[in-house]
Amino acid sequence: MKFKVPVEKNKTYTVKIEDLTYQAMGVAKIDNYPIFIADSLPGEEIVTKVTKVLKNFAFGRVEKVIKESPDRVQGNDKTYTQTGIAPLQHLTYAAQLKFKHNQIKNLLVKQHLDNIEVADTVGMDKPFGYRNKAQIPVREIKGKLETGFFKRNSHTLVPIENFYIQDPIIDEVILKVRNILREYQIKPYDETNHKGIIRNIMVRRGKNTGEIMVVLITRVRKVPYLKEIADKIFAINDVVSVIQNINSEKTNALMGKEDILLNGNKNIHDTLLGQKFIISAHSFYQINPEQTEKLYKLAIDKASLTGKETVLDVYCGIGTISLSMAKKAKKVYGVEIVKEAIADAKINAFNNGIDNVEFEVGKAEDQMKKWQEEGLKPDVVVVDPPRKGLDGSVIDSTVKMNPKKVVYVSCNPATLVRDIEKFEEQGYVVNDPIVPVDQFPQTPHVESVTVLEKNIN
Ligand code: SAH
Repeated sequence: MKFKVPVEKNKTYTVKIEDLTYQAMGVAKIDNYPIFIADSLPGEEIVTKVTKVLKNFAFGRVEKVIKESPDRVQGNDKTYTQTGIAPLQHLTYAAQLKFKHNQIKNLLVKQHLDNIEVADTVGMDKPFGYRNKAQIPVREIKGKLETGFFKRNSHTLVPIENFYIQDPIIDEVILKVRNILREYQIKPYDETNHKGIIRNIMVRRGKNTGEIMVVLITRVRKVPYLKEIADKIFAINDVVSVIQNINSEKTNALMGKEDILLNGNKNIHDTLLGQKFIISAHSFYQINPEQTEKLYKLAIDKASLTGKETVLDVYCGIGTISLSMAKKAKKVYGVEIVKEAIADAKINAFNNGIDNVEFEVGKAEDQMKKWQEEGLKPDVVVVDPPRKGLDGSVIDSTVKMNPKKVVYVSCNPATLVRDIEKFEEQGYVVNDPIVPVDQFPQTPHVESVTVLEKNIN
């Protein structure tokens, strides 16, 4: 029998929201056929208009809320809501923290790891204005250069002045840069025919130093009035670095390979847990400094260092975790794939007077194998991988090196749980609760710290 999709595009339906996905979409079902609806919450009854119909599911939008969830936040900025910047802003913060806790717990239960506990999510007192980095598309709308963000699931720019979750000083800098670009009539990038000049603006601000970096991402090298523009941007309060990055490809990747320093320094600084860090345009740096300090403190605490240990910091970025641990360990080794980040890491070690660290540029997969073959015997291995989690070979090398503890900092519970299973198969156990730390309020992203210990039973 042929299955008939029970909904039609552009028609409205009254539905009950049953669940919230890890991408913050409410889920309703008609004859078991799921409809994913942004800005809706479990328990709500809503009228939805179906916007897209696929074979196995559909997307809809909220036309009207008939019965509201007690966890709903009222009065959000409508223009802003069209973008995908803060897909959980309609959920109270307490419920967001619970949602993140549950995500990890549910994944563990699904994999029959029910015995592992999850602590309450460590939240922020003020869960707005936290981002220390903005990456903003620049486009032309009605003949005017605009900055803002893309409408959800599209490349249509919605002009925005208040980004809510970003450092408000960054919001101000974006507007000033926008006005300078308008003054010199710089053509915004046009994706459809790959024309125009300015594609994106990236702004980074060291929260604890106030230093600001502005990167202009352009399609071409030659920009009219570039010197005048760079000088005016440099004159904005606290801007210490103005960089042009050239991205001439037809791509969704934000930055190209080539940087040209237009004014000031190549880097900015920030401090974390009392240490000073140099940060360059291409280096990864945690985007929520207040929560990062809590996250690192937890990781350091859980490593139980006494000063005698050898520690590996795998996926070390600019060495922030390595250097925070170095004072409490005998020796720390870090590995990271981005060469600029390792250059920063080495300077950071020097600037903080730390000489018991060694950093290597390379793929974690290769370097871990190398260390293992060289006979390195770490007591603690810290891993902080990107969303795709650990490559199987990194787990194998880790286990072969036989550390007492693996401290796993994760930004994706799905790959975390997958990797915990692999470690458990190879003789490691999770004894302490996993601690979620909310690095990304108003969004569904879940960060957490897990400790795996060598099973001595
Ligand atoms: N621990 C750091 C960085 C964590 S983000 C901090 O807290 O700031 C993850 C890092 O992994 C990024 O710096 C990214 O460049 C790096 N990375 C991604 N894939 C990698 C790989 N295969 N090998 C090594 N590093 C990798």
